[in-house]
Amino acid sequence: MAMSFAALAGFVVGALAVLFYRNQIEAPSRTAAADGAGDGAALPQGIASVLAVLPSSAVVLDAHDRVLRASSAARAFGLVKGDRLMAAELLALARQVRRDGEIRESEIDVAGHKFGQETTNFAVRVAPLGSYGQVLVLAEDQTERRRVEAVRRDFVANVSHELKTPVGAMSLLAETIQDAADDPEAVSRFAGRMQLEAARLNYLIQDLITLSRIQGAEPIPTPGQVAIDEAVSDAIDHCNTRASAKDITLVTGGIEGLRIWGDVELLVTALRNLIDNAVAYSPEHTRVVVSVRPAGDSVEISVSDQGIGIPEEALERIFERFFRVDAARSRATGGTGLGLAIVKHVAAAHAGEVSVWSKEGSGSTFTLRLPAFGGTAVAVPPSIPLEAAP
Ligand code: ADP
Repeated sequence: MAMSFAALAGFVVGALAVLFYRNQIEAPSRTAAADGAGDGAALPQGIASVLAVLPSSAVVLDAHDRVLRASSAARAFGLVKGDRLMAAELLALARQVRRDGEIRESEIDVAGHKFGQETTNFAVRVAPLGSYGQVLVLAEDQTERRRVEAVRRDFVANVSHELKTPVGAMSLLAETIQDAADDPEAVSRFAGRMQLEAARLNYLIQDLITLSRIQGAEPIPTPGQVAIDEAVSDAIDHCNTRASAKDITLVTGGIEGLRIWGDVELLVTALRNLIDNAVAYSPEHTRVVVSVRPAGDSVEISVSDQGIGIPEEALERIFERFFRVDAARSRATGGTGLGLAIVKHVAAAHAGEVSVWSKEGSGSTFTLRLPAFGGTAVAVPPSIPLEAAP
């Protein structure tokens, strides 16, 4: 991106220089009087139209630092007010360029113009424009790109950390097994723990693959009608063993025969993650209810548990990758910290959403709201096959 901006800016600066040169020849006697800019510093013909099609903010300053021309983006970003360049750093750069004729590149932060955004970060390129002391300033807003880069860097750091934990544990366990070679009971115990760590690694890798696959498939490439009852029973089948181990009853409820417009595999993945969590964060002998209901042009599928609940201050962060309320507890249940991020992306891929209600000590309800097949949530009686349904 930075390269392409530099390349584009380079091209534009070059093109403008050629235009300027041609204009000097074609209209040598032009003065700024027409623009009221003074000092023979009118904007050469053609340059205004080139600036108008540029996606970046573009400003042309005259020999006295007055703005001869500014794109609407430059004004919208607050870089220019009236005929003044507002960013002091940029003005200093423009003066240096005017003095020595050298093209300069830099990055500057300008107090934010968007709500909730403190600063806007610009990649800037400043170049001399002809012989009247005019200077061209091109500025590209790269705040969003910076933010995405930071998220990506964080993600890579988190993944490395998450991978290190089981790999480190496995290496320690292998050493311990070597040392305990003459104690078969200890060898078997440590080998069992090694298997657990290997399984943890496997879950993490599986979740990472799922997450990257979903992110790459937004929106879903080949959506179709999905029978929710089948998806729910598939997901419940996957979670049954874990639930029975804690004597947790998995119950289905609500309206049968509803369909969504989407991808069955993704839906099962999301439901499995929600039910798995409901089981993992609930005490023994409780109930998890999966309920389906029509909601206008959508279908709502909710998963409710009678578990530990989520503290209010954590509610808005639980869909972030690797966020856990209690890291030790998540580890103990084999959690990867990616389950809810996967659910969020499945919802987004369907142009739907996921929401949560929770109360510490009482339980949680996660609700997936997905677009109904055909635009309205209508139940199809079980006697009609899906292909024959309207
Ligand atoms: P994990 O693999 O740790 O379960 P998730 O992304 O699935 O990761 O969930 C993130 C965190 O949200 C969990 O670590 C847990 O603290 C909390 N959480 C998710 N679902 C529930 C639930 N049903 N009840 C209580 N806490 C939950």
